[in-house]
Amino acid sequence: MVKTLDLWKVSTVVLQKRGAALMKSLPPLSGLLRASFVRQYLTCGKKNCRCRQGFKHGPFFYLVQSIGTGRVRKFLLKSAQQRRQARAGIAAHLRWQRRLAELSEINTELLRRGTIGKGHA
Ligand SMILES: [Zn+2]
Repeated sequence: MVKTLDLWKVSTVVLQKRGAALMKSLPPLSGLLRASFVRQYLTCGKKNCRCRQGFKHGPFFYLVQSIGTGRVRKFLLKSAQQRRQARAGIAAHLRWQRRLAELSEINTELLRRGTIGKGHA
């Protein structure tokens, strides 16, 4: 991966090739999730429960999504399969974010040079 801050040093041809390669090798979208994976330990309402002495219940795993300003959607991931799928979907989203961020950086530099769109597929 081309280091973002050093893009101005990279030749236009190399940037164009890197951009084209990025677009051709985008990761699969299947199962993609824009979310966070959260692990929590909880206390219950029982008066003499072990959780009151610091031995909290859990871990419980949740999928948490921001759905607008100050609003989140959160639900319990009950099965091992759900947790695996959640982790994989979140990882897929992060891969896409990194690719898109890199492509944007390359295109910004090409735009600055006046060479965007030339040499791209
Ligand atoms: Zn308890």
